[in-house]
Formats: sequence, structure tokens, C-alpha cells
Amino acid sequence: MAFDIEMIRKVYEELPGKIEAARNEVGRPLTLAEKVLFAHLHTDMKLQNFERGVHYVDFAPDRVAMQDATAQMALLQFMQAGRPQVAVPSTVHCDHLIQAKTGAAEDLNAALNTNKEVYEFLASVCNKYGLGFRKPGAGIIHQVVLENYAFPGGMMIGTDSHTPNAGGLGMIAIGVGGADASDVMAGLAWELKWPKLIGVKLTGKMSGWTAPKDIILKVAGILTVKGGTGAIVEYFGEGADGISATGKATICNMGAEIGATCSIFGYDDRMSAYLKSTEREDIAVLADGIKEHLRADPQVIAAPKKYFDEVIEINLSELEPHVNGPYTPDLAWPISRFAEAVKANNWPEKLEVALIGSCTNSSYEDISRSASIAQQAVDKNLKAKAEFTISPGSELVRYTVEKDGWLKAYDNMGGIVMANACGPCIGQWARHIDDPSRKNSIITSFNRNFAKRNDGFPGTHAFVASPEIVTAFALAGDLTFNPLTDTLLNEDGQQVKLDEPKGYELPPKGFSVEDPGYQAPAEDPSSVQVLVSPESQRLQLLEPFPAWEGTDIKGLRLLIKARGKCTTDHISMAGPWLKFRGHLDNISNNMLIGALNYFNDSTDKVKNQLTGEYGPVPATARAYKAAGLGSIVVGDENYGEGSSREHAAMEPRHLGVRAILVKSFARIHETNLKKQGMLALTFAHKEDYEKILEDDIIDIEGLNHFAPGTPLTVLLHHADGTSESIIVNHTYNEQQIEWFKAGAALNIIRRNALAAAQQ
Ligand code: SF4
Repeated sequence: MAFDIEMIRKVYEELPGKIEAARNEVGRPLTLAEKVLFAHLHTDMKLQNFERGVHYVDFAPDRVAMQDATAQMALLQFMQAGRPQVAVPSTVHCDHLIQAKTGAAEDLNAALNTNKEVYEFLASVCNKYGLGFRKPGAGIIHQVVLENYAFPGGMMIGTDSHTPNAGGLGMIAIGVGGADASDVMAGLAWELKWPKLIGVKLTGKMSGWTAPKDIILKVAGILTVKGGTGAIVEYFGEGADGISATGKATICNMGAEIGATCSIFGYDDRMSAYLKSTEREDIAVLADGIKEHLRADPQVIAAPKKYFDEVIEINLSELEPHVNGPYTPDLAWPISRFAEAVKANNWPEKLEVALIGSCTNSSYEDISRSASIAQQAVDKNLKAKAEFTISPGSELVRYTVEKDGWLKAYDNMGGIVMANACGPCIGQWARHIDDPSRKNSIITSFNRNFAKRNDGFPGTHAFVASPEIVTAFALAGDLTFNPLTDTLLNEDGQQVKLDEPKGYELPPKGFSVEDPGYQAPAEDPSSVQVLVSPESQRLQLLEPFPAWEGTDIKGLRLLIKARGKCTTDHISMAGPWLKFRGHLDNISNNMLIGALNYFNDSTDKVKNQLTGEYGPVPATARAYKAAGLGSIVVGDENYGEGSSREHAAMEPRHLGVRAILVKSFARIHETNLKKQGMLALTFAHKEDYEKILEDDIIDIEGLNHFAPGTPLTVLLHHADGTSESIIVNHTYNEQQIEWFKAGAALNIIRRNALAAAQQ
């Protein structure tokens, strides 16, 4: 933590001055999100009134957090940078690879066996390069970050889409791909389009069955799954100050479900109390000292419509508990209308499984409130009618709620406590069901409920609600039950009604934990060996990509001309391939297997120009590479849309593809290609896409004069002996051209690190 508190002290020393300068530059009061963004501009960035949704801006985040699945490639890339230590405090959290099957202890043991080599690799890299390592069982990344690393006014990036959870402690926290994480750990700037701002004004006060989860379920219903795209959602108003820090985190966590870049709350007494209860009094004292800078300016709160692009107002005194779903988190139903919706839509009324926990809802407050319902079940002689599981978010919470007797209440009600991990939330769930194809209903306190997300079964109707509502439904086993108004038949044949849930924001006797599952980095990293077996099928150390040969690139074979949509999923499929995400050569066997070949409208079937035969895309690329030939991929509009998955850029680079030539790129993928030393080119005239023929051999000319804003020429050699040249554009700046010449951005960082070490 020493690394952290010094960093935070420095951030807080500089923050007021940076905010003042930004306010002067912009000439108006600032929202909290703007303050934090301005305070984290990269030193190369000139302060200015950035246009929202237009300007791309470089930032210098304070922290990086990675989960075990995405950390593998991020760290393999970071190792390429040649740095002895990470440039900013960073942590790895082992949470995604644990399958929920029978219970916490057995499931954890099984994961330790199955993922041994991955865990050993991650632990050894962390040890060597100065990262904190949270072992399997320590908890879910976002809950652990909230308890240990998030701080008001900070900026963090994390290799997981629910990284914004840390907004509950007033942090700008954004989910990114592994390449971004490795860049920041290597000391590079991180780029983001200056976001739009959505303000959510909370008035009134929650009571009874209503919980923070219901606020975000309501917001999701208003904004829908795309409503937050490209925007930061900032919550304010007296209603906001009445919500616990962990409740705020729940709301920020699920901002991912409306596509928001992140969400944030202003610093208040509840955050201060949470920091103190999690042994961070020093941070609370520092934050208290600059409190006014960690909230939006008063003029913004007084007239939000002048400063936000959109403002929503929610009166918490009138907010009902919500149940959202099925199949999408924005299908929002107030509980009073939910039973009617279930019947009208013919959704299965019988509830088969109720699950609580996940990074979204597993705070002490969540568990104590839902356990108060479980305790009522015991007191009123009710038994759970649906299967009921609890996935605690961290060992700190699990140990404390066990010590305080809350887990016993679940046990008595018939609940099963799973490992402190993602488990069913990410489909790591061995669900027991007689017929996986039949329609059925489950309810969770998680965040995502897309088809197949939890159990892989298309017939599962998954609904999302607060932990207390989920617990009540577990007792009813029936989706038409309304715990606010209805009664339940108990084991004595009596009709009983559940009382409102009651809980504690923070543990009355304080948090405690025996083994938080933390490994600090080694004092002497030079003695640490990074553990990767050469025989491993899941991990492979990366070799630096070769530098540009210094001449025009000639004789490229057309690998595939993709027709229509070609997302990062088409380029690098997920599903079963994810187990290879730390092994570039193995995962490259999924390269472009989802892309549609323009010439035969088939997937994964392209012509090998050397043999004339048709075969899979990866095998064909390997054949060209083995023959010492480069290849080129041609694509349609918005090539590479979807995720920031770096594999979609690394795989073609690894298999010898030199250039991607398309009608247009999704920007993140275009940048990823540039970072890997590829040529990302666009047709100057989109109709030239039609000129590319299946047997073309292609040259790229003009590279000796490669310069920003100067187009290149592509020469097409057709099989009939004719040739034609077309003009192609690019968006490389000076620095990115250097990446291309060096073979990859990381090659430059390594070169600089080596030079610095030799001085
Ligand atoms: S609990 Fe679910 S949402 Fe949270 S990090 Fe794990 S998989 Fe993602």
C-alpha cells in the first residue's frame, strides 16, 4: 500500500491546481467527471475545452486492475516492454476461472488444479514486476478493488467491463482491453474520446424493500442498453448522499449495462465511512481535506441542464423495487407490475434458481439485508422453494458475514455458499437441470442477463433484481409473487408475510479477515523466474514482432476479402477459444474463422493461392508464412467493431498478415493494429473494394515516404496478367509510423527501456 498512498497523496496535492486551471480554460463551472478527467490529462496533452464525443484525449491513469482471464495477454505484452517494474500501481485478481459446482471449498480446489499453470504464471509475473496478486478465493476484482484500491478523484483502467464499479468511491474507472492495460503499465498514455455527460439527479430517500440496485434498474429502463454509449453518467443530489458507498458501487457497476463509459458519484460522508472501515483512514483524511474538489461545482448541481448533455431525475421516495428482464437488463418492471408481465408474456412462472452475490451486489449491506429475509424464513418456518446460491464478492465480506452469523441464516434456509468468485455470473456454473433445452426461469442479483450468459442454456429466462428481492423470490419459487403485498404458505400451513429487509451499511463490529489471499510483489525481483512451461497449451511467452524491412512491401497474397460485418468476434472468436488467450499461437487458430469470404459466401474457407485449394483461414495464412510470403486482409465497413480484444490484432500479425485494407475501421481496432506494427489502410475510393480479386498478388508502395496525411498506393496484380493501382488512406501520426517501423509499439518502449538501463 505504500506505493498507493504516496501516489494518492501526490494526486491530491496536484488536483486543486489542475481543476482551477481547467475551470479557467473552460470558463465555466465543472462537473465532477470533468474535474477528474482534466486532473488526469497526460503531460503531452494541452489543456483546452475538449469537444464531447469528438476529441480523442490522452490520459495518465493512476492504477490498473486486471482479472485472471484478460490479464494473461496483457502481462505477456507488458513483459515485452523491457521495464523492470510496472509504471503505475497494478493488481491481478483470480476470479473468472473458478467454476461454481458444489460449494466453495470443492470448487476452489478444482480450479486450483485445472488452472494451476495460469495461476502460477500470473503470480510469478506479479512477483517479478511489482504487481499485487490476489489469489483464487480472494474475491471478485471489482469488490476487492473497492475494498482496497479505489479512491475518490482517482482514475483507473481495468481489463473488465465492470471496472466502473469503483465509481462508488468517486473514481473514474473504465473497462479496457489488455493492450491498453499493458501500455499504461509500461508508462504510455491512454487514449479516450472526451465523453458526453449524462447527469442523474437523485431526490428523496429510499426505504423498505427498495435498494440501490433499483436505481440502476430504473436508469437502465430509461436509457436502454445503448443510452449511455460514449458517456459518463454522474449521479448527484441529496438522494445520492443517502446511499452507502457500496450501494453507489452497485449503481456504477451496472452502468456497463447501458453502455456507459463509466459512472461516478461525488465524495461524501458515506465514502469517508467506507474508507475508514476498510482500513484506509489515511485516504479519508486526505480526501476530506479537498472535499469540494471531489464533487461537482455547486453551480452544476443548481442548474444541471446547463452542464450535462442529458439530465434524468429520479425521486427515491417513490422508487419501487424492480425486476428487469428477461434476456436484456433494460426491460424494467416495477415489482407491482411484474407478475402481470410474467403472465402476459407467458414467461415460466416457476422460479428454479435464485442466485445472489457477484461483483455487483455482495457488500456487507447487501448480504445483511438479504440475510435478514433468510432469517425471517427460519423464524416463520418457510423453506426455499427454488435452488438458492450465494457467491460472496470477497473473502473480507465472506469472513465478516460468517463471523457475524449471516451465512448461517442462508444455510438454515437451504442456501449454498459458493466460492468468492464470478461463477454463475460468467457462465462458470455447472447447473443441474433435467432438460437444458426447456424454458425455465432464474433470478439473480448479478448485472448481465443476456441469453445463455449464466448457464449456457437458450431457454433460460434470467431476471435481475436486488439481493433482498432475489432472496424473497427464492422462498416463493414463483415469479408472480410480490413480497411487498403477498403472503407465503409456511411449513405449518399458515399464510405469513415477509417484513421489510433490514441490514447494516457497515459491519457493527468491523470487517475482519484471516487470509485476504494477497501476495505482495517480491522485494528482490531479480531472483524471480516467470513460470511458463514450453509445453504449455494455454500460455506462451511472446517473441517481439520483426521490424519493418525498410522497403515497399511486395508480393502479398490475398488471405480473405471479408464481406459485410466483421467484428472482433468474427476475427477472434470467444467461447472455447478463451482458454488459449494466453497462448498466441494456439488462439491464432481462430483467426477470421467467423468472417464471410466475399468470393464464396462461406466462413473459414479461402483459396490458397499456392495450391489452388480451399481451406481454413488460419491454415492458409500459416501456409503463406511458411513459404516466406506475407498476406493481406481486405474488409468492408467498420471492420473490427465490437470489443477492444487485442487478440484480433495480434493474431494476424503473428500469422504473417502485413496489412488490413478496408472501407472503414472501428477506431479501437485500428489503433490496436497500429500498436502491433500492422498497416491499417482504408480505400480512398470505397468502390475500389470491388477491384480486389481472389487470386490477386498485392504490393504496397510509398512506405519509404510514409508520412501523416500522405496516402499510399496499392498495386493489384491480377491473375490474367493485368495490374491496376489504387490509392489508400491511413490515419497514422508520426509516433504511430515509428511503431510501424519498429515492428510494434512495445518494441519502441523496450528499446527506450534498454537505453535507459545502459545509461
Ligand atoms: S462477477 Fe460477473 S460481472 Fe462481475 S467481474 Fe465477475 S463475471 Fe464480471
